[in-house]
Amino acid sequence: MISMATNLPHILLIYTGGTIGMIKDAETGALRAFDFNNLLLRIPELKLLDCNIETFSFTKPIDSSNMQPKYWLEMADLIAKNYNKFDGFVILHGSDTMSYSASALSFLLENLNKPVIFTGSQLPIGDLRTDAKENLITSIQVASLQENNEPIIKEVGLYFEYKLYRGNRTTKINAEHFEAFASLNYPELAESGVHLKINDPYLYSNKGKGELIVHSDLETNITIVKLFPGITKAVLESVLNIEGLKGVVLETYGSGNCSTELWFLKLLKEIIKKGIVVVNVTQCSGGSVAMGQYETSEKLKKIGLISGRDITTEAALSKLMYLLPKKLSKKGFKEMFQTEIRGEMTSS
Ligand code: ASP
Repeated sequence: MISMATNLPHILLIYTGGTIGMIKDAETGALRAFDFNNLLLRIPELKLLDCNIETFSFTKPIDSSNMQPKYWLEMADLIAKNYNKFDGFVILHGSDTMSYSASALSFLLENLNKPVIFTGSQLPIGDLRTDAKENLITSIQVASLQENNEPIIKEVGLYFEYKLYRGNRTTKINAEHFEAFASLNYPELAESGVHLKINDPYLYSNKGKGELIVHSDLETNITIVKLFPGITKAVLESVLNIEGLKGVVLETYGSGNCSTELWFLKLLKEIIKKGIVVVNVTQCSGGSVAMGQYETSEKLKKIGLISGRDITTEAALSKLMYLLPKKLSKKGFKEMFQTEIRGEMTSS
């Protein structure tokens, strides 16, 4: 525990790994995850914040390139167990897969009424030019924001380089710049400058929806297929015929367009008939799928593809993982997928 005063917000700081806490290996010079105490020692400013902070670290912090759905369930479970004790949660996470994790947690935590803020950094906390301090300190401040004794943010957010985004709307867009994330289809929830400016109309509200429900089932027999000019029948056939496959996120062109070649449409039609769900998501970072707008997407609608509308690939993947175990009817699944359930897409 870092500080303790009774009426201040209680924040649980969860360290999963990532550059923020990494050090350079003496022999190879490669960055590897380091222990949490080292990280805390390097930010004495944490003691100055107007909140009580408790910490929890993964026993073996990971580079987020090793992220797995089992760790998402672990994070969700940790939040569930500590939900009543804390006012907000900050998750330190590598930036590489942070958007996937933030999306997954948004689905696993139904009726969330407290902030769960993901953050990390492009440079380790020990680096002179690090972006870690600002990201961490402001994330904790965001998670501590309250009005009438209630948290202001009641959703899974992602804070990076002066901006708070809705987690399931983000994508990592830059491996070099400090501004590593973008949310092209949804405005920022908050911006940090001289003042912390909250964009109230865009905050998520679960008002009247009831108690927190923590889901613990994710289907992992799914895949992402990105179309490219020249994709062969053999490639697509082998991927779509994987034994036990339950769902596909199909990354199409522009507003959901694809090849109109017969073999292509036939393959998709066959797997949909077998009960595999196929979601149409655009390869573009911004904008939306609109099946039927062009002749090249009209057929997809007819053979039963589900529209991902303006969802990100990261959120589509975790929404599939989350919805598939619910054993919905074909129609029910389609309806549910095409409806916004955690602010992850624009419904109509
Ligand atoms: N490879 C690192 C990770 O995702 C990159 C980062 O933290 O920014 O864990």
